Amino acid sequence: MPISEQLPIEKIIRQDRRTVSIQVTDDAKIIIKVPRHASKQDIEQVLEQHIRWIQNRLTRARQGKQWTQRKFTDGEKFLYLGYLYQLKLIDTHKAPLVLKDNVFYLERKYQPFARDIFEKWYRRKAAENFYNRVRIYAPLLGVEFRQLKLSSARTRWGSCSSNGNINIVWRLIMAPQWVIDYVIVHELAHLRHMNHSSSFWQLVEAVYPEYKQARNWLKQNGHYLNI
Ligand SMILES: [Zn+2]
Repeated sequence: MPISEQLPIEKIIRQDRRTVSIQVTDDAKIIIKVPRHASKQDIEQVLEQHIRWIQNRLTRARQGKQWTQRKFTDGEKFLYLGYLYQLKLIDTHKAPLVLKDNVFYLERKYQPFARDIFEKWYRRKAAENFYNRVRIYAPLLGVEFRQLKLSSARTRWGSCSSNGNINIVWRLIMAPQWVIDYVIVHELAHLRHMNHSSSFWQLVEAVYPEYKQARNWLKQNGHYLNI
């Protein structure tokens, strides 16, 4: 059976181009762009060459999909600082959502709004955590920051502007502290080097020697940092 028939190919787009591009969408579909005159065989060949990459992306997209189809019911697990905690619905509580004794307690009547309540909880923890870490790392990098903001960006974990503002994605609070620290060091280092030059990476490495592990962690697990 040709490889193309075993894959969830959504569409094949023919256009004026010289190379083939393969895209795996967030909902685990494949879109292929090919040169106008590419033959069926050409396409099969490219798919075969990239089959491992495609399979990895598909698995990741499917897992990501599962993860975001949450129902906020008993036993579901939620990440916080790299650890998974189970959710338990209870009838009455002091606050809508509490993390106590390694369990997330959500008051039952708030379940229809659970996603918003979780986001609020995460944002509050993120603001506190990121701010404390920025205050530790800014002097080590010899930079001054003006303002820290939480962002909802989907394509990057952090950003910064030349006037000293730093934006970090709130969902990063689900990652282990050592990964959060890397993103913070990365953005602070941009206040000295507004690029990804070798001097930039030298500065990052001087303050955060394990930066490559942290980058890999984000590449492999970033899609789990989601509710
Ligand atoms: Zn950067």
